[in-house]
Amino acid sequence: MPYDAIILGAGAAGLMAAISAGRRGRRVLVLDHAPEAGRKILISGGGRCNFTNQHCAPDRFLSGNPHFARSALARYTQHDFIALVRRHGIAYHEKTLGQLFCDGSARAVVAMLLAECAAAGVELRLGQRITGVEKPHGFRISTEQGEVTAPALVLATGGLSIPKMGATGLAHDIAGRFGVPLVPPRPGLVPLTFQGAPLELMRPLSGVALPAIARCGKRAFPEALLFTHRGLSGPAILQISSYWREGEPIALDLLPKIDAPTLLRERKRARPKAEPKTVLGELLPSRLAATLAEAHLPAKPMAELPDRALDGLAALLKRWELLPAGTEGYAKAEVTLGGIDTAALSSQSMEAKSVPGLFVVGEAVDVTGWLGGYNFQWAWSSGWVAGEAV
Ligand SMILES: Cc1cc2nc3c(=O)[nH]c(=O)nc-3n(C[C@H](O)[C@H](O)[C@H](O)COP(=O)(O)OP(=O)(O)OC[C@H]3O[C@@H](n4cnc5c(N)ncnc54)[C@H](O)[C@@H]3O)c2cc1C
Repeated sequence: MPYDAIILGAGAAGLMAAISAGRRGRRVLVLDHAPEAGRKILISGGGRCNFTNQHCAPDRFLSGNPHFARSALARYTQHDFIALVRRHGIAYHEKTLGQLFCDGSARAVVAMLLAECAAAGVELRLGQRITGVEKPHGFRISTEQGEVTAPALVLATGGLSIPKMGATGLAHDIAGRFGVPLVPPRPGLVPLTFQGAPLELMRPLSGVALPAIARCGKRAFPEALLFTHRGLSGPAILQISSYWREGEPIALDLLPKIDAPTLLRERKRARPKAEPKTVLGELLPSRLAATLAEAHLPAKPMAELPDRALDGLAALLKRWELLPAGTEGYAKAEVTLGGIDTAALSSQSMEAKSVPGLFVVGEAVDVTGWLGGYNFQWAWSSGWVAGEAV
């Protein structure tokens, strides 16, 4: 066998696994069906790649086992990746909430990973269609170009998000064939869709954005909210979408940190002749203010509105309960929730407990981060520890 490890997937996790294994002197081959490596890195963070988060911690990840990610995240931390970025002279900045972005193009991150791969002697073959994976003795991978074998196989083909970028369920399928269980996948960090009256109200507001708090169950995310022609998006909604389950309501606070009932009554006294939409327009984007005022209050001056009516509107502004119809699906989801069951993997090495030599890393695993650089950090950390073990 000319290779010690074959890695399927030249994305964030696969390239990092290749780097850490190659640096240890392992002979590594990376196969990918795409014509270029790291395509999701290139489109990430609006082309500037939010490559990690300064506040990365295990409680910012969703998984069937909330403790699983701890070990990998501790062994290859955000600080390790930041040090790598610095060594390569890539300029970056914190945008918000600890999110680190390149000052320039995400291409710099891919170029850095490819340079590290080259320095570690990693062989990269792109445009490879995987046609078979067998385990007679070690692993035998068939592609349209021929067969390759190695005693270790790392599945790094990611999740199902954005099929038009080349996402497939290959890692899930291969693991399944070897009897490694799967937590059913579903789209995460994804816009929510609505139907009926809520959608009628939201659609004309498409493009309106404001700071808000989105809640689902015990989770709350204070971030920006965006109305779309299909419902709601923006960071607050993407974050809450990962916790949302079909049939559950979400709640929006459109006036975070504001005591809305007191404020509306005070404005009634201060501006008795003003219409509610004008008063609301001082607190919210004007299109949203007009829509909510018209939907919930008569078009009368503030002085003529009973306090009860103002309290009703204030309650809505602080807790607008909505029942999403669904999500925009994998076509728009930034990540895939679920994936290879962590119970079947070693958290130290990412190796399948029942299939020695088989490793799964990155988004293919049932570990999903919040929005804000956490998903790349998981890819770097899980890839790194697998590379240390192959
Ligand atoms: C639009 C968008 C923006 C994002 N922005 C950010 C961000 O700024 N910060 C952040 O932390 N996360 C972001 N993410 C999430 C992040 O991109 C992923 O979590 C991360 O790329 C997962 O890394 P991975 O290596 O596991 O999978 P991927 O990066 O998806 O890599 C998988 C690789 O496997 C290859 N592959 C797939 N199927 C096959 C097959 N059948 N045969 C051969 N090869 C195959 C693919 O071509 C790909 O190269 C974003 C995601 C999207 C969609």
